[in-house]
Amino acid sequence: MRRQRKAKIVATLGPASNTKEAILALFLAGADVFRFNFSHGTHQDHQLRCDIVREIERSYGRPIAILADLQGPKLRVGQFAEGKVFLENGATFTLDNDPAPGSAQRVCLPHPELFSVINAGQSLLLDDGKLRLQVLHSDATHIHTKVINGGILSDRKGVNVPDAVLPIPALTEKDKRDLDFALDMGADWIALSFVQRPEDLLDARALIGQRAGLLAKLEKPAALDRLDEIVAVSDAIMVARGDLGVELPPEQVPGAQKRILRSCRTQGVPIVIATQMLESMIAAPVPTRAEASDVASAIYDGADAVMLSAESASGAFPEQAVAMMNRIICEVEKDPLYRNMLDAQQVPPLSNKGDAICSALRSVTHIIGARATVTYTSSGHTTLRAARERPSAAILSISPKQEVARRLNLVWGVHSTVNTTPLTIDELVSAACHTAVAEGFAQAGEHIVITAGIPFGESGSTNLLRIAEIWPGTTTT
Ligand code: PGA
Ligand code: MN
Repeated sequence: MRRQRKAKIVATLGPASNTKEAILALFLAGADVFRFNFSHGTHQDHQLRCDIVREIERSYGRPIAILADLQGPKLRVGQFAEGKVFLENGATFTLDNDPAPGSAQRVCLPHPELFSVINAGQSLLLDDGKLRLQVLHSDATHIHTKVINGGILSDRKGVNVPDAVLPIPALTEKDKRDLDFALDMGADWIALSFVQRPEDLLDARALIGQRAGLLAKLEKPAALDRLDEIVAVSDAIMVARGDLGVELPPEQVPGAQKRILRSCRTQGVPIVIATQMLESMIAAPVPTRAEASDVASAIYDGADAVMLSAESASGAFPEQAVAMMNRIICEVEKDPLYRNMLDAQQVPPLSNKGDAICSALRSVTHIIGARATVTYTSSGHTTLRAARERPSAAILSISPKQEVARRLNLVWGVHSTVNTTPLTIDELVSAACHTAVAEGFAQAGEHIVITAGIPFGESGSTNLLRIAEIWPGTTTT
């Protein structure tokens, strides 16, 4: 089974996509990566979903990546007796430290460290900025506010305090427990929320090591001040436009997205564009034209992946949302303008062997019209550097490590497979040809372009480029 597109789809799982049937439908509609949102659900919920994803992976023989998204120091209100309330404009509303279920008069704010840093006159933004409260006065256990922009407020919605500096670490105690669980569960990517400094990633890396890829969610203005440094120490980046667009004025989000994209493309770090991409599909079977255009623009810009949040986790049309994203991406990738735009934004190779080989891989592929490129990779490095080149043919990645194959499924153009490493170059060439035929990328008489690092298994040793013709009778065994 192969996808007919280069850019990837990340689908968040949730109550609307909990069953085997629902998750399988998302996978078949085009989801390459499943995001488990640790802001919601129990460890048991995540484990059940993980078991289902791994079962699908086994039955289709395709590696699937699981992205465990840690809540981070995201502030959230507690729960309501009725699940949600309506806050009227001009009403008063109190946030306090009482864990009792909330009402239209009050709700718990389970972040004790906050009460001391909030002052009268400041704003609290709720539910991605949809509601605004103004602080009237506060003490050690209460924040009394007036509702400026009211609306529906439901359980555990986010709270942003744009005008206060919050004394909160990047990994909370909950995150550390969730991280342990996610690593034991076998998550392939760990997403770190509200990253502000490169040090936040180094702290997380010290706990994670190489057990999972580390993805930094950029959703704080402070992260943009040290963008290149943060990208340099991350394995992937997410433009988390929900919180970013609350902390920054919305009109500054598009420019920030382009800057982040530019930094990631230059450094060859995979980038995911996230949040509200097909928002109206939470409640409707078709998106707005503006949403379709937003997804398409991210693809024209060369993003690795686009993401669905509530659309697939709790909306009424999860499968349709994935299918719509799939169609939008395929449409863009058919457009000759897409290739022109990728070529116009081509980033020069860095001065190292891997980039030299992968740059050559790109031009050879283009010049001879090869049907596929084949990258042998142990750590994932060679495949990532090949993807940075955005070659015109698919990247058939072969890794002996299942966890590497899974992780690479997030990356532009990569069709990830697991296979043992050949012992000789002849074996390598013939295994590459067999895999290209077996996975449906090439037929007899067509060419593939192979890259690898010799000796095998040494990261950063990429030094081989080989053109191979598929011989008649090449079998899939
Ligand atoms: P969240 O992250 O859904 O975990 O808040 C995405 C975003 O903020 O856009
Ligand atoms: Mn967020």
